[in-house]
Amino acid sequence: AVNSPAAQVETVIDLDAIAHNVRVLREYAGDAGVMAVVKGDGYNHGAAQVGRAALAAGAVELGVTTITEALDLRAAGIDAPILSWLNAVDADYTAAVAAGIELGVSSVWQLRAIEQAARATGVTATVALKVDTGLNRNGVSDMEYPQVLALLRELVDERAVRFRAIFSHLAHADTPQHPGNDRQRDRLLDAIAQAKEFGLEPELAHLANSAAALARPDLTFDMVRPGIAMYGLSPLEETNFGLRPAMTFQAQVVLVKRVAEGEGVSYGHEWVAPRDTTVALIPAGYADGVFRPLGGRISVRIGERDYPSVGRVCMDQLVVDLGDDATGVAEGDTAVLFGGGPGQTHPQRWADLLGTIHYEIVCSPRGRVVRRYV
Ligand code: PLP
Repeated sequence: AVNSPAAQVETVIDLDAIAHNVRVLREYAGDAGVMAVVKGDGYNHGAAQVGRAALAAGAVELGVTTITEALDLRAAGIDAPILSWLNAVDADYTAAVAAGIELGVSSVWQLRAIEQAARATGVTATVALKVDTGLNRNGVSDMEYPQVLALLRELVDERAVRFRAIFSHLAHADTPQHPGNDRQRDRLLDAIAQAKEFGLEPELAHLANSAAALARPDLTFDMVRPGIAMYGLSPLEETNFGLRPAMTFQAQVVLVKRVAEGEGVSYGHEWVAPRDTTVALIPAGYADGVFRPLGGRISVRIGERDYPSVGRVCMDQLVVDLGDDATGVAEGDTAVLFGGGPGQTHPQRWADLLGTIHYEIVCSPRGRVVRRYV
Protein backbone atom coordinates (compact mmCIF):
# COMPACT_ATOMS: atom_id res chain seq x y z
CA ALA A 1 0.00 0.00 0.00
CA VAL A 2 1.09 3.54 -0.71
CA ASN A 3 1.10 4.46 2.96
CA SER A 4 3.55 1.88 4.24
CA PRO A 5 7.03 3.11 3.43
CA ALA A 6 9.62 0.50 2.63
CA ALA A 7 12.37 2.99 2.03
CA GLN A 8 13.58 6.16 3.67
CA VAL A 9 12.71 8.21 0.59
CA GLU A 10 10.84 6.73 -2.33
CA THR A 11 8.67 7.29 -5.34
CA VAL A 12 5.71 4.96 -5.45
CA ILE A 13 4.49 4.35 -8.99
CA ASP A 14 0.90 3.25 -9.46
CA LEU A 15 0.83 1.16 -12.64
CA ASP A 16 -2.96 0.88 -12.47
CA ALA A 17 -3.05 4.67 -12.79
CA ILE A 18 -0.86 4.40 -15.91
CA ALA A 19 -3.24 1.80 -17.37
CA HIS A 20 -6.25 3.94 -16.50
CA ASN A 21 -4.69 7.01 -18.12
CA VAL A 22 -3.87 5.05 -21.28
CA ARG A 23 -7.50 3.96 -21.46
CA VAL A 24 -8.62 7.60 -21.10
CA LEU A 25 -6.25 8.58 -23.92
CA ARG A 26 -7.47 5.72 -26.11
CA GLU A 27 -11.01 7.00 -25.76
CA TYR A 28 -9.97 10.45 -26.93
CA ALA A 29 -7.92 8.92 -29.75
CA GLY A 30 -10.87 7.11 -31.29
CA ASP A 31 -9.59 4.95 -34.13
CA ALA A 32 -6.06 6.32 -33.87
CA GLY A 33 -3.34 4.42 -32.04
CA VAL A 34 -1.62 5.55 -28.85
CA MET A 35 2.16 5.78 -28.71
CA ALA A 36 3.17 5.83 -25.06
CA VAL A 37 6.06 8.28 -24.63
CA VAL A 38 8.51 6.79 -22.12
CA LYS A 39 11.60 8.92 -22.75
CA GLY A 40 13.55 10.25 -19.78
CA ASP A 41 13.11 6.87 -18.06
CA GLY A 42 9.37 7.19 -18.42
CA TYR A 43 9.36 10.78 -17.12
CA ASN A 44 11.19 9.30 -14.11
CA HIS A 45 8.52 6.63 -13.55
CA GLY A 46 10.58 3.77 -15.07
CA ALA A 47 10.48 3.33 -18.86
CA ALA A 48 10.18 -0.46 -19.04
CA GLN A 49 7.56 -0.81 -16.29
CA VAL A 50 5.45 2.05 -17.68
CA GLY A 51 5.95 0.79 -21.23
CA ARG A 52 4.73 -2.69 -20.34
CA ALA A 53 1.72 -1.30 -18.44
CA ALA A 54 0.85 1.03 -21.32
CA LEU A 55 1.09 -1.71 -23.94
CA ALA A 56 -1.05 -4.00 -21.80
CA ALA A 57 -3.64 -1.22 -21.59
CA GLY A 58 -3.77 -0.90 -25.36
CA ALA A 59 -0.95 1.42 -26.44
CA VAL A 60 0.48 0.16 -29.72
CA GLU A 61 3.94 1.71 -29.75
CA LEU A 62 6.48 3.29 -27.41
CA GLY A 63 8.30 6.56 -28.05
CA VAL A 64 11.71 7.51 -26.70
CA THR A 65 14.37 10.05 -27.47
CA THR A 66 17.57 8.03 -27.89
CA ILE A 67 18.61 4.72 -29.36
CA THR A 68 20.09 3.81 -25.97
CA GLU A 69 16.67 4.23 -24.37
CA ALA A 70 15.09 2.11 -27.11
CA LEU A 71 17.69 -0.66 -26.77
CA ASP A 72 17.17 -0.70 -23.00
CA LEU A 73 13.48 -1.40 -23.63
CA ARG A 74 14.38 -4.24 -26.00
CA ALA A 75 16.77 -5.60 -23.36
CA ALA A 76 13.88 -5.53 -20.89
CA GLY A 77 12.03 -7.87 -23.22
CA ILE A 78 9.69 -5.40 -24.94
CA ASP A 79 9.24 -6.33 -28.59
CA ALA A 80 6.55 -3.80 -29.50
CA PRO A 81 7.35 -1.05 -32.05
CA ILE A 82 9.61 1.62 -30.53
CA LEU A 83 10.39 4.98 -32.12
CA SER A 84 13.59 6.89 -31.26
CA TRP A 85 13.66 10.45 -32.55
CA LEU A 86 16.81 12.28 -31.46
CA ASN A 87 20.32 10.87 -31.55
CA ALA A 88 23.95 11.83 -31.29
CA VAL A 89 26.07 11.84 -34.42
CA ASP A 90 27.91 8.73 -33.20
CA ALA A 91 24.79 6.89 -31.97
CA ASP A 92 24.70 3.16 -32.64
CA TYR A 93 22.37 3.09 -35.64
CA THR A 94 23.57 -0.42 -36.50
CA ALA A 95 22.40 -1.85 -33.18
CA ALA A 96 19.14 0.08 -33.54
CA VAL A 97 18.42 -1.28 -37.01
CA ALA A 98 19.37 -4.80 -35.92
CA ALA A 99 16.94 -4.49 -33.00
CA GLY A 100 14.14 -3.25 -35.24
CA ILE A 101 13.97 0.22 -33.69
CA GLU A 102 12.06 2.76 -35.77
CA LEU A 103 14.35 5.73 -36.32
CA GLY A 104 13.34 9.35 -36.58
CA VAL A 105 15.05 11.21 -39.42
CA SER A 106 15.63 14.95 -39.31
CA SER A 107 18.36 15.32 -41.94
CA VAL A 108 20.10 13.79 -44.93
CA TRP A 109 23.08 12.72 -42.87
CA GLN A 110 20.88 10.78 -40.46
CA LEU A 111 19.23 8.99 -43.34
CA ARG A 112 22.71 8.17 -44.67
CA ALA A 113 23.71 6.78 -41.27
CA ILE A 114 20.58 4.62 -41.24
CA GLU A 115 21.29 3.48 -44.80
CA GLN A 116 24.79 2.37 -43.77
CA ALA A 117 23.36 0.51 -40.78
CA ALA A 118 20.82 -1.23 -43.02
CA ARG A 119 23.55 -2.30 -45.41
CA ALA A 120 25.82 -3.45 -42.59
CA THR A 121 23.14 -5.58 -40.95
CA GLY A 122 21.20 -6.68 -44.03
CA VAL A 123 18.06 -5.59 -42.18
CA THR A 124 15.56 -3.17 -43.69
CA ALA A 125 15.58 -0.07 -41.49
CA THR A 126 12.28 1.41 -40.38
CA VAL A 127 12.20 5.18 -40.52
CA ALA A 128 9.89 7.96 -39.43
CA LEU A 129 10.41 11.31 -41.11
CA LYS A 130 10.32 14.05 -38.55
CA VAL A 131 9.32 17.24 -40.31
CA ASP A 132 9.71 20.68 -38.84
CA THR A 133 6.31 22.32 -39.18
CA GLY A 134 7.09 25.32 -37.02
CA LEU A 135 8.66 24.33 -33.71
CA ASN A 136 12.08 24.95 -35.25
CA ARG A 137 13.76 22.41 -33.09
CA ASN A 138 14.30 18.83 -34.25
CA GLY A 139 12.89 17.84 -37.66
CA VAL A 140 13.72 18.24 -41.36
CA SER A 141 13.72 21.87 -42.45
CA ASP A 142 11.76 22.99 -45.49
CA MET A 143 15.04 23.65 -47.28
CA GLU A 144 16.40 20.15 -46.87
CA TYR A 145 13.09 18.34 -47.27
CA PRO A 146 13.32 17.70 -51.07
CA GLN A 147 16.80 16.18 -50.68
CA VAL A 148 15.63 13.96 -47.84
CA LEU A 149 12.65 12.80 -49.91
CA ALA A 150 14.84 12.08 -52.93
CA LEU A 151 17.21 9.94 -50.87
CA LEU A 152 14.33 8.23 -49.07
CA ARG A 153 12.78 7.39 -52.46
CA GLU A 154 16.05 5.66 -53.50
CA LEU A 155 16.38 3.76 -50.24
CA VAL A 156 12.77 2.59 -50.28
CA ASP A 157 13.26 1.36 -53.87
CA GLU A 158 16.33 -0.58 -52.77
CA ARG A 159 14.40 -1.96 -49.79
CA ALA A 160 17.09 -0.60 -47.50
CA VAL A 161 14.39 1.39 -45.74
CA ARG A 162 10.73 1.06 -44.85
CA PHE A 163 8.87 4.39 -44.69
CA ARG A 164 6.72 3.83 -41.63
CA ALA A 165 5.72 7.30 -40.46
CA ILE A 166 5.80 11.01 -40.96
CA PHE A 167 5.47 13.10 -37.83
CA SER A 168 5.92 16.49 -36.26
CA HIS A 169 5.67 18.18 -32.86
CA LEU A 170 3.59 21.19 -31.85
CA ALA A 171 4.88 24.46 -30.41
CA HIS A 172 1.57 25.58 -28.86
CA ALA A 173 -0.25 22.38 -27.92
CA ASP A 174 -0.91 23.66 -24.40
CA THR A 175 -2.86 26.55 -25.92
CA PRO A 176 -5.24 24.35 -27.89
CA GLN A 177 -6.90 27.13 -29.90
CA HIS A 178 -3.63 28.84 -30.84
CA PRO A 179 -3.61 29.38 -34.62
CA GLY A 180 -0.05 27.99 -34.71
CA ASN A 181 -1.52 24.54 -34.15
CA ASP A 182 -3.61 24.84 -37.31
CA ARG A 183 -0.63 26.14 -39.24
CA GLN A 184 1.44 23.16 -38.12
CA ARG A 185 -1.34 20.73 -39.09
CA ASP A 186 -1.49 22.35 -42.54
CA ARG A 187 2.27 22.16 -42.94
CA LEU A 188 2.24 18.49 -41.99
CA LEU A 189 -0.46 17.90 -44.60
CA ASP A 190 1.74 19.75 -47.13
CA ALA A 191 4.71 17.60 -46.18
CA ILE A 192 2.62 14.46 -46.73
CA ALA A 193 1.50 15.80 -50.11
CA GLN A 194 5.10 16.62 -51.07
CA ALA A 195 6.18 13.10 -50.16
CA LYS A 196 3.43 11.78 -52.44
CA GLU A 197 4.98 13.71 -55.30
CA PHE A 198 8.04 11.50 -54.79
CA GLY A 199 5.78 8.44 -54.80
CA LEU A 200 6.26 8.09 -51.05
CA GLU A 201 3.39 7.28 -48.74
CA PRO A 202 3.96 6.74 -45.02
CA GLU A 203 1.97 4.10 -43.21
CA LEU A 204 1.16 6.59 -40.43
CA ALA A 205 1.15 10.31 -39.68
CA HIS A 206 1.22 11.76 -36.17
CA LEU A 207 1.42 15.17 -34.54
CA ALA A 208 -0.38 15.30 -31.19
CA ASN A 209 1.22 15.19 -27.75
CA SER A 210 -0.95 14.92 -24.61
CA ALA A 211 -2.48 18.38 -24.79
CA ALA A 212 -3.45 18.06 -28.44
CA ALA A 213 -4.59 14.46 -27.98
CA LEU A 214 -7.03 15.61 -25.30
CA ALA A 215 -8.09 19.02 -26.55
CA ARG A 216 -7.66 18.98 -30.33
CA PRO A 217 -9.18 15.77 -31.68
CA ASP A 218 -8.90 17.23 -35.17
CA LEU A 219 -5.09 16.97 -34.91
CA THR A 220 -5.09 13.26 -34.11
CA PHE A 221 -4.07 11.90 -37.55
CA ASP A 222 -3.30 8.13 -37.21
CA MET A 223 -1.61 8.12 -33.81
CA VAL A 224 -1.19 10.31 -30.75
CA ARG A 225 2.00 10.56 -28.69
CA PRO A 226 1.06 11.31 -25.09
CA GLY A 227 3.61 11.56 -22.35
CA ILE A 228 2.54 13.69 -19.42
CA ALA A 229 -1.14 12.73 -19.49
CA MET A 230 -0.24 9.06 -19.30
CA TYR A 231 1.58 9.86 -16.05
CA GLY A 232 -1.67 11.37 -14.82
CA LEU A 233 -0.84 15.06 -14.99
CA SER A 234 -3.12 17.25 -17.02
CA PRO A 235 -1.46 19.32 -19.72
CA LEU A 236 -4.19 21.93 -19.33
CA GLU A 237 -5.12 23.88 -16.23
CA GLU A 238 -8.88 23.92 -16.72
CA THR A 239 -9.52 20.20 -16.32
CA ASN A 240 -7.76 16.98 -15.41
CA PHE A 241 -9.70 14.82 -17.89
CA GLY A 242 -10.18 12.19 -15.19
CA LEU A 243 -6.46 11.38 -15.19
CA ARG A 244 -4.84 9.82 -12.12
CA PRO A 245 -1.32 10.91 -11.08
CA ALA A 246 0.91 7.84 -11.07
CA MET A 247 3.79 9.08 -8.90
CA THR A 248 3.80 9.68 -5.15
CA PHE A 249 7.04 11.10 -3.70
CA GLN A 250 7.20 10.25 -0.03
CA ALA A 251 9.51 9.64 2.90
CA GLN A 252 9.37 8.35 6.43
CA VAL A 253 9.05 10.61 9.39
CA VAL A 254 12.30 9.70 11.14
CA LEU A 255 12.14 11.95 14.20
CA VAL A 256 9.40 13.77 16.11
CA LYS A 257 10.43 16.20 18.81
CA ARG A 258 9.48 19.23 20.83
CA VAL A 259 10.98 22.63 20.04
CA ALA A 260 10.64 25.49 22.48
CA GLU A 261 9.25 28.94 21.62
CA GLY A 262 12.01 31.18 20.27
CA GLU A 263 14.22 28.33 18.97
CA GLY A 264 15.37 28.62 15.35
CA VAL A 265 14.99 25.62 13.03
CA SER A 266 17.39 24.54 10.26
CA TYR A 267 20.30 26.50 8.73
CA GLY A 268 20.21 30.22 9.27
CA HIS A 269 17.27 29.95 11.63
CA GLU A 270 14.98 31.40 8.98
CA TRP A 271 12.08 30.05 10.98
CA VAL A 272 11.82 30.62 14.69
CA ALA A 273 9.21 28.69 16.66
CA PRO A 274 6.49 31.22 17.58
CA ARG A 275 5.35 28.98 20.47
CA ASP A 276 6.33 25.68 21.98
CA THR A 277 5.65 23.19 19.23
CA THR A 278 6.35 19.74 17.85
CA VAL A 279 8.31 19.23 14.64
CA ALA A 280 8.85 16.22 12.42
CA LEU A 281 12.05 15.51 10.51
CA ILE A 282 11.68 14.20 6.94
CA PRO A 283 14.88 12.67 5.53
CA ALA A 284 14.58 14.16 2.04
CA GLY A 285 16.32 17.22 0.72
CA TYR A 286 17.65 18.84 -2.40
CA ALA A 287 19.90 15.87 -3.18
CA ASP A 288 16.68 13.87 -3.53
CA GLY A 289 14.80 16.42 -5.63
CA VAL A 290 13.21 18.57 -2.94
CA PHE A 291 14.23 21.96 -4.31
CA ARG A 292 15.78 24.26 -1.75
CA PRO A 293 13.54 27.27 -2.57
CA LEU A 294 10.56 25.21 -1.41
CA GLY A 295 11.66 25.48 2.22
CA GLY A 296 8.89 27.12 4.25
CA ARG A 297 6.56 27.15 1.27
CA ILE A 298 5.30 23.62 0.74
CA SER A 299 3.14 21.42 2.90
CA VAL A 300 3.69 17.76 3.58
CA ARG A 301 0.80 15.34 4.06
CA ILE A 302 1.02 13.01 7.03
CA GLY A 303 -2.06 10.90 7.51
CA GLU A 304 -5.02 13.06 6.63
CA ARG A 305 -3.43 16.42 7.32
CA ASP A 306 -1.11 18.84 5.59
CA TYR A 307 1.69 20.30 7.73
CA PRO A 308 3.82 23.28 6.70
CA SER A 309 7.52 22.90 5.97
CA VAL A 310 9.53 25.29 8.14
CA GLY A 311 13.04 26.65 7.69
CA ARG A 312 15.45 25.79 4.92
CA VAL A 313 15.41 22.57 2.95
CA CYS A 314 18.85 20.97 3.40
CA MET A 315 20.66 18.44 1.23
CA ASP A 316 19.15 15.50 3.08
CA GLN A 317 16.35 16.73 5.30
CA LEU A 318 13.50 19.08 5.85
CA VAL A 319 11.44 19.91 8.91
CA VAL A 320 7.68 20.29 9.22
CA ASP A 321 5.80 21.98 12.03
CA LEU A 322 3.16 19.74 13.55
CA GLY A 323 1.95 22.46 15.91
CA ASP A 324 -0.07 21.42 18.89
CA ASP A 325 -2.09 18.93 16.95
CA ALA A 326 0.70 16.37 16.66
CA THR A 327 -0.93 13.56 18.48
CA GLY A 328 -1.45 11.45 15.37
CA VAL A 329 2.11 11.67 14.00
CA ALA A 330 4.78 9.18 14.96
CA GLU A 331 8.21 8.15 13.77
CA GLY A 332 7.85 5.72 10.86
CA ASP A 333 4.76 7.45 9.50
CA THR A 334 4.64 8.25 5.82
CA ALA A 335 5.04 11.86 4.79
CA VAL A 336 3.82 12.59 1.28
CA LEU A 337 5.87 15.30 -0.39
CA PHE A 338 3.88 15.27 -3.59
CA GLY A 339 1.36 12.94 -5.12
CA GLY A 340 -2.11 12.76 -6.48
CA GLY A 341 -3.80 14.03 -3.36
CA PRO A 342 -5.72 17.25 -3.16
CA GLY A 343 -4.30 20.76 -3.24
CA GLN A 344 -1.12 21.32 -1.36
CA THR A 345 0.76 18.18 -2.28
CA HIS A 346 -0.07 18.06 -5.98
CA PRO A 347 3.07 18.40 -8.17
CA GLN A 348 1.39 21.40 -9.78
CA ARG A 349 1.73 23.24 -6.46
CA TRP A 350 5.50 22.71 -6.48
CA ALA A 351 5.61 23.80 -10.12
CA ASP A 352 3.71 27.00 -9.32
CA LEU A 353 6.03 27.81 -6.42
CA LEU A 354 9.13 27.22 -8.54
CA GLY A 355 7.94 28.89 -11.73
CA THR A 356 8.18 25.67 -13.71
CA ILE A 357 5.92 22.92 -15.06
CA HIS A 358 4.83 19.68 -13.39
CA TYR A 359 6.87 17.72 -15.96
CA GLU A 360 10.03 18.98 -14.23
CA ILE A 361 8.66 18.17 -10.79
CA VAL A 362 8.09 14.47 -11.47
CA CYS A 363 11.47 14.30 -13.19
CA SER A 364 13.21 15.59 -10.04
CA PRO A 365 13.29 12.73 -7.48
CA ARG A 366 16.67 11.08 -8.01
CA GLY A 367 19.83 9.69 -6.50
CA ARG A 368 19.09 7.63 -3.42
CA VAL A 369 15.32 7.82 -3.92
CA VAL A 370 14.06 4.25 -4.26
CA ARG A 371 11.35 3.55 -6.83
CA ARG A 372 8.61 1.12 -5.88
CA TYR A 373 5.70 -0.16 -7.97
CA VAL A 374 2.19 -0.85 -6.77
N1 PLP B 1 6.25 13.70 -28.94
C1 PLP B 1 7.47 14.24 -28.93
C2 PLP B 1 8.25 14.33 -30.18
C3 PLP B 1 8.00 14.74 -27.73
O1 PLP B 1 9.22 15.28 -27.70
C4 PLP B 1 7.21 14.65 -26.55
C5 PLP B 1 7.72 15.21 -25.28
O2 PLP B 1 8.04 16.36 -25.19
C6 PLP B 1 5.95 14.07 -26.60
C7 PLP B 1 5.50 13.60 -27.82
C8 PLP B 1 5.06 13.95 -25.39
O3 PLP B 1 4.70 15.21 -24.93
P1 PLP B 1 3.69 15.39 -23.69
O4 PLP B 1 4.41 14.87 -22.49
O5 PLP B 1 3.45 16.84 -23.63
O6 PLP B 1 2.49 14.58 -23.99
